Amino acid sequence: MAQETVFTPDIKFVRELKKAGADTLKKCYQCATCSVVCPLSPDDKPFPRKEMVMAQWGLKDELVKSADIWLCHNCNDCSKYCPRGARPGDVLAILRKSVIQENAFPRFMGKIVGDPANIWQALAIPVVLFIVVLAMSGHLGIPEGNVVFSKFFPVHFIDMIFVPLSMLSVVMFAVSISRFWKNMTSGTGMTPKAGFMPSLVETLKEIMTHAKFRKCDENKDRSVAHVLVFYGFIGLAITTALAVFNLYILKWESPYPVDDPDVLAIFGGSTALVWIVKILFKLLANASSVMLLTGGVLVIKNRLKERGVETLTSSFDWLFAGIVLLVGLTGFLAQVMRVAHFPAVMAYGTYFIHLVLVFYIIIYMPYSKLAHFVYRTVAITWTKMLKRDVEI
Ligand code: SF4
Ligand code: SF4
Repeated sequence: MAQETVFTPDIKFVRELKKAGADTLKKCYQCATCSVVCPLSPDDKPFPRKEMVMAQWGLKDELVKSADIWLCHNCNDCSKYCPRGARPGDVLAILRKSVIQENAFPRFMGKIVGDPANIWQALAIPVVLFIVVLAMSGHLGIPEGNVVFSKFFPVHFIDMIFVPLSMLSVVMFAVSISRFWKNMTSGTGMTPKAGFMPSLVETLKEIMTHAKFRKCDENKDRSVAHVLVFYGFIGLAITTALAVFNLYILKWESPYPVDDPDVLAIFGGSTALVWIVKILFKLLANASSVMLLTGGVLVIKNRLKERGVETLTSSFDWLFAGIVLLVGLTGFLAQVMRVAHFPAVMAYGTYFIHLVLVFYIIIYMPYSKLAHFVYRTVAITWTKMLKRDVEI
C-alpha cells in the first residue's frame, strides 16, 4: 500500500508571501504552461508549477529546502505565457527571498534586511556606529582646509569597523548557508551521482559566463545588466583588497610613488613599472565603478520596463537595485566634489552616505539580495551533484 504523506499548510507563510508581492499566487490553476516554457526546468519534476502548488498550500517546510527555486534566473518567460497572470517567475523570486530570511543567522537580521519596510533600521545601525566612533575619537566635525577624506574619517577607523564586522558577517553567512545545505540535502532520499568539487567548479564556470542566464528569451537584456553589476562588484572587491594590502604591507603613501626610493626598489628601479601598476589599479577601480553604476542603471531601467508587462519586481529587489546605484553614484560624486573643490560639507556628507551604503552592501551580505550569489551557487552545485540540472 502506498505510504501516506501528511502536509501541514502554513497559512501565515502564504500571507507573508502575498504581502511580499506574490499576491497573484492564488490565480494559478495548475495548467503547467510555465513548466513547459521554462528553458531551465528539467524534464523530471519540472518547476515552477509544483512550487506554485506548494506556495498556494503554504508548504513552507518543503519550499525552504527546494533547490529548484534557485535554478530559476527570473527571466519571466513563464510569466509571459501564464494564461492566468499568476507571475510564477516573480513568485519564485519572492520564495528565494523567504528562504534567505528563514536560514538567516541571526534570524532577526534576516527580518531587518529582508523586509524593505525596515530599511531605516538597517541604515540607522551604521549611521549610529559611525557617529559614535567619530565622536569618541574626537573626529566628529568638518576638517579645515582641502577635502581629504581620511582627515574626516581616518582609514584606520574604517578598518576598525569594517574588518571585524566583515569577519563576523562571514561567520554568520557560513552558519546560514550550512543551515540551507542541511535543509536542502537531508531527507530528500536522493543520492548524489557526482562529487562536490567537480560540481562546484562546473557551477562557478556557468555563473561566471552567465551561460544559463542567456538561455532565456524574455528579458534577455537583463543578463547584460547582471554581468556589469556582477563584475563591477568583483572589480571593486579586488581593488579594496589591494588598497588594504597597500595600507598595511606596501605602505605607499605618496600619490606619485615614483618619488619613493622604497617603492622604486620593489620594482628594480623602474619608474615605468611603478606607473604601469598604478595606472592599472586606477583603471580597474574606475572601470569597476563605471560597470557597477551602468549595471545599476540598466537593472532599474529593465525593471521599469518589466513593470508594465508580465512581471512585477518586489520591493526587496527594488531596494537592492537602488542601493547598488547609490553606492556607485555617491562614490563617484564624492570624488568629483573633492577634485572640483565643492564645499567641504557636501563632499564629506556624500562620502559619509557612501560609507553607510557600503556598510549595507558588505556587512549585510548574508541577508540581502547579494546572498543570492552564494545560495544559488550552493543549490546549483547540489543539483549538478544529482545530475538534475539542464545541460547548456
Ligand atoms: S503559474 Fe500560470 S502557467 Fe503555471 S501552472 Fe499556474 S496558471 Fe499555469
Ligand atoms: S522565470 Fe524563467 S527561469 Fe524562472 S521559472 Fe520562469 S521561465 Fe523558468
